[in-house]
Parts: sequence; C-alpha cells; structure tokens
Amino acid sequence: MTSPLSYLDIDTRDPAEYLAALDTLRWQKLQRQIRYVWTNEDYYRKRFLEAGIRAPEDLRTLADFRCLPAFIDKARHRESQDESLKRYGHPLGLHLTTTPENAIHLAATSGTTGTPTFYVFSRRDLEITCKVLGRLFRVAGIRPGDTTFHAFGLSLWLAGITYVQALEAYGARPVAVGAEGGVPKILRYIEITRPRVLFATPSMVNQLIERAQDEIGKPVGTLGIETVVVCGEPGGSQPIFRARVRAHFGAQTFDITGGAWHNGTITCDSRDAHGMHYMAEDHCFRYDLVDPETRLPLELKDGAVGEAIHTGLEYEASPAFRNATGDMLRLHVGECPGCGHFGVRMEILGRVDDMLMIKGVKAYPAALQKVVHEFQPKLSGELRIRLDAPPPKVNPPLQLIVEAGEGTPESTWPMLASALSQRIRELLSFRPNVTVQPFGSLPRSGAKTKLIEVVEA
Ligand SMILES: [Zn+2]
Repeated sequence: MTSPLSYLDIDTRDPAEYLAALDTLRWQKLQRQIRYVWTNEDYYRKRFLEAGIRAPEDLRTLADFRCLPAFIDKARHRESQDESLKRYGHPLGLHLTTTPENAIHLAATSGTTGTPTFYVFSRRDLEITCKVLGRLFRVAGIRPGDTTFHAFGLSLWLAGITYVQALEAYGARPVAVGAEGGVPKILRYIEITRPRVLFATPSMVNQLIERAQDEIGKPVGTLGIETVVVCGEPGGSQPIFRARVRAHFGAQTFDITGGAWHNGTITCDSRDAHGMHYMAEDHCFRYDLVDPETRLPLELKDGAVGEAIHTGLEYEASPAFRNATGDMLRLHVGECPGCGHFGVRMEILGRVDDMLMIKGVKAYPAALQKVVHEFQPKLSGELRIRLDAPPPKVNPPLQLIVEAGEGTPESTWPMLASALSQRIRELLSFRPNVTVQPFGSLPRSGAKTKLIEVVEA
C-alpha cells in the first residue's frame, strides 16, 4: 500500500506550506480509514454516534475530524480488552477491526499498573512498522549487513521482538540476547559477536560501562561499538548521557521512540538532540494537538503545545483512532539546527496528569527536570518536587529538592540553588524554592521514578 502522495516528496522548506501539504495527505488517507473504522460496531461506531456523527460522510474535512473528541485512551483500551476477553475469548479489544486470525503479532506495555495493554499487528501493520523503523535505523547510520546487539527487554516490549523483526527486515543481523540475559552474558556475547551497533536503555548502557572491566577484563571502549541506540527511558537525549557514551564507548547516541501504531521518532546525533525528529508523517498522525482542558483542537504550527491525539492513518488491527496519549508535546517545524533535517520535531514536555499550576502558570515535572539537567555535573540530575497537597494546584513557592553532584563542594550549594531558581524563573515563569541535598540522598528507583512527592501537612 503506497500512497501516491508521500510526505517524503513534499517539496517545500516553508513550514506553513509543509504543514498544509501534510494536511492534504492526512485527509486523503483518513477518509478511507474513517470508513474502515466505522465498520467496527462493537466500539468505534459507538464513539462516532456519541459524537453526533451519523455516517462517515458527515465528516467533510480534516478540521471536522480534528473536532471529534478522543475515542480511546489507556483506561478505555484496557476496558475494551477486558470486555472482548469476556465476550469473545480474546484480549485484542472490542476495537479490533480485523479478524483475530489476521492479528499475527503482539507487543504490550509493561502492565505494572493493572493488566497490560496490547499493540496488535496485522501482517500489513507489521510491514509498515518495519518500514517506519527502518527509516530510524537509516538515520542512526545502520547499514544492511551490520551486526546489531539487542539488549532491550524482549518480553513483549515493542523495542524487543518487534524491533528485532524490523532489524531483520532491514537487513541487519540482530543478536537478540535481550536485557533478560543479564549484564555478564550481554558483555560476553558482545565480545564474541562484535556488533557495530548496540540497542539498550540508558540504564543498561550505564551498567555495561560500569561492569565491563570486572566481567570481561576490558573497558567497553575496546568493543568496537560505533553507535548506541537508546529508548524506553528519559535520559537518552541528555547532553551528559551522550557525552558519557562518547567518552566510554567512543560511540554516537540516537534516542528513538516508535513501533506503536506506526509511530517513529529519532533524535539526531547533535549534542543537544533537538527533539524527536518525526519520521512517520505518511502513516500516522501522532501530534493532533488539543488543549488539555478545553479539549479543542489547537492550530498546528512551530511552537504549538498541547496534548497529542494519535491516529493511525491506515492501521488495520485494533488501531489507534483518536487515541488520547496523555503526552504533552511541543512542536518544532522547520530545519533542525543540529542536523539540517527539515520537518516536524516533537519535544515531550510531560504527562497531562502531571501538570502543575503555580499561580496560573502551567508547568510539567519533565520541564523542571530538563532545567535541572542543565546544571549537571554540579548537580547530580536527581530531583523531587515536594507538594503539600495533590497536584495540579501548587501553593507557591514550589518546593524543589535537588542533589549536589559527586564532589561539588558544600560551600557552593547556596549559589547553585539560587542560580537554578533564577534559570527556572527565566524559562518557566515561576520561581521555586530550591533545596540542595548531598549526593546520593534521593532514592533511585530506575526509569519510572516519580518526580512528585505529596507530603500532606
Ligand atoms: Zn537534527
């Protein structure tokens, strides 16, 4: 299924013209997808009818489509699966838009909170996924014939078997030991198989750096890895992490997301990463932004900020169709200052649920974290936002706890605290009360550390 109009052929460097051409492409594909999803009586047709749409033809333009409410989110996805399990004996969701027999591949989220939600792929869905992921591999400089090493978890994660299949389809040779293999086995197999490219989470990359000498008697810099591809945790876009990978592996870093309903984004290799370069315009509409409060569509333009609604433009099995992602994004449209790539880049500001309101100013923990990271290595980068009542409303000033970096003299802490407070004032328009604590005093619990602590008085 190739569209006569590919976004790769859009021939303009003008952001407004570019976005208008994308709208044309989207609407062309969406008209067919709306009719397709309409056939799903168990779930999607009900959502259309609730929104007052009596027939697919009621939607005449992309603007009409963008005015529809969200049709699904994580919680409703889970309910849809529970209900299909009861009614039909499979967990593929009432929103399954093909037969269960056509659903040939599954991946899932972790399920740490409740049951996992499944990503369901038909054969064509998987083929397009491989094509989109292949674009990311190309940006990362991976070549057909390369040995790549897979240290992402394989257990149902998108970045696991799904990525391994995409790498094989691309012509690379993934060595799929997986995070489950454990650090010693991973290091030994890297030594034997000599990959040029490593796929791993930032915390796995850090462990490999720390343990290589003990496990294989040599530092990771001797292993010949030229490219490290990370995802699954924040951190991969931080200058300090990228510098660490350069220093220890002698390798460049690419941070990627994608695989879900044809999404695909990647940073470039520039020092500051400059956001996630969006690589799947022709297959999904990942940044249909709405105001998180009014739920009204926002004009898509450079600098726009809103909650992303995700719709697969031609997804076959259990598609994302007006799926409220809960991600707050800022769009950048134009040329990347780092690599010159022209297109849309997305900066994830945080989760809608994490929004804080400080005297009418909206702020996201991820945005605070980004400012704190500017102060590495003088600060460790760890932080907590301590509230005396549940968010979003914050009684000012916001209490921000940070950690000194290893070896940062205590005499400089007050100065660091005021510099950080001033920087947050400049960038985020409110002034927090910053407390600096000793290095190592904030508990680490991996990627999903909650940045907000509520200590009720
Ligand atoms: Zn770039």
